[in-house]
Amino acid sequence: MGAPPVKTAEPRVDAARLERRLGELAKIGRDARGGLSRFAFTPAHAEACLLVADWMRAAGLRPFLDPAGNLTGLDRDDAPAIAAGSHLDTVPMGGRLDGALGVVAAVECAQAIREHGVRLRHPLAVLAFADEEGNTFGVGCLTSRALVGDLSPNRMAAIRDAEGRSLADRVAAWACPLPRGEPARVAAFVELHIEQGPRLDAEGLDLAAATAIAGISRTTVTFIGAANHAGTTPMAMRRDALWGASALVLEVRRLALATAGEAVGTVGRVEAEPGSTNVVPGKALVRVELRSGRETLLETLRAGVEAAARRLAADYGLEAIVDPWDHAPAVPLHPGLHAIALEAAASRGLRAISMPSWAGHDAKVLAPHVPTALLFVPSVGGISHAPDEHTAPSHLAAGAQVLLDVLCRLDDNLNAPGRLG
Ligand SMILES: [Zn+2]
Repeated sequence: MGAPPVKTAEPRVDAARLERRLGELAKIGRDARGGLSRFAFTPAHAEACLLVADWMRAAGLRPFLDPAGNLTGLDRDDAPAIAAGSHLDTVPMGGRLDGALGVVAAVECAQAIREHGVRLRHPLAVLAFADEEGNTFGVGCLTSRALVGDLSPNRMAAIRDAEGRSLADRVAAWACPLPRGEPARVAAFVELHIEQGPRLDAEGLDLAAATAIAGISRTTVTFIGAANHAGTTPMAMRRDALWGASALVLEVRRLALATAGEAVGTVGRVEAEPGSTNVVPGKALVRVELRSGRETLLETLRAGVEAAARRLAADYGLEAIVDPWDHAPAVPLHPGLHAIALEAAASRGLRAISMPSWAGHDAKVLAPHVPTALLFVPSVGGISHAPDEHTAPSHLAAGAQVLLDVLCRLDDNLNAPGRLG
C-alpha cells in the first residue's frame, strides 16, 4: 500500500483584492446625478475594459475584444473553455455591483487558481459582456446573444442604436485599444450576481443557486360593458367595465399568492374609457404580467387568469376579450451544476438556498447552449438598479469563493461520466 495522496488546500480568493478592485471599477462611468451610467461602447466602457484587461493579464489570461465587443480573457484556447463572468454596463444611475461583481469575481478566481499553481484540465475564460442592460440598442443581453449566435444576420442588421448604427458599426468605431479576436468557445458558464431582490437579506442567508430564470407571460384583458350617465343609470342596470377589471386585479393577486412564492403576478396598468368622472366606464383594459421559474405553473396561471376574466365578465354582465400577447418561457439552469453549487456552498459552511431568478441575466442566454449556473449573493434591502446597491464584503467574498469552488469542481466533472457528462 502506497502513501495516501497529498491533499493540497483548495485555492482561496483574496477578499481584500476583490473589494479593492470593485471600488476601482466603481470610479469609472460616474454620473453627476448619482450612481454609475456606464453604457456599452462609450469612453467609460473602454476605460473599464482596459482596467479589467490589466487584471486579466495579472491572472495569466490573454485579454481581447470579440466581434460583439465582449471583453474576453483566456488562459489558452485549445478547447472550449469553462467560463465565468457577467456584464460591465450599467443602467442609468445604476449601482456598483450589478454585473461588475460577476466580472471582478471571475478575474479573482482566475488569479487565485494561478497563484495556487492549479492546472485546470479545461481552458478558463473570463467574459465581461458589453451590453446586458439594453441601454444602447433596446435589446437586453444583446452581446451575450451575439456570442452564442442567437441572432441571425438579418436580425443583427436590423438592430440599431438611436443614431441608426449597427452593433458591428459601434464595435468597429469604438476607441478601445485592445486586441480583437474570435468569440470564445464556451463549454460551461457560471455567473455570480447580486440577487437584486430582498429575500436572501431578509432571511439572513448567504447565497442562492438559481434553479431557472423565470419565464414571463403577459396578457391583456379588455372588459366591454356599456358607457352611460353616472347619475341616471340605476346601479342594477349598469354594465360597468371597471367592475370586472378591478375584480380581476385582486384575482391576479389571489392566484399568485396561492403558489406560495413560486410565481408573482402584477397588474401594472389599468385603463378605463371614456375616463370621465360622470360616465360609467364602458370599456376597461387590464394588463397582467405573470412570472415563474416553472413553465407548467406559468401556463396554469395564465389559464387561471383567462378563466377568472370570463367568470367575472359573466358576473358583471360584461364581455371579456383575452389577448395573451407575449410569452418568454422559463429557462431552466443545469441541475447537475446547480447541485455542485449547493454542495460547494455547504462545504464552506454557508447558508444557501435554491430559488428562481426573477430577473433576466446573461446566464439566461448561455443556458440553452451549455451547462450554466447562476449564483446570487444578498442585496441589502433588496435594492438594485440604484446608487444604494450594496452587499456586505463578507457576502461578496463568500460568493466569489463559491464561484471559484464551482469552477474547480466543474473542471473535474465536465465531460466525465456522471452529473455533467
Ligand atoms: Zn446584471
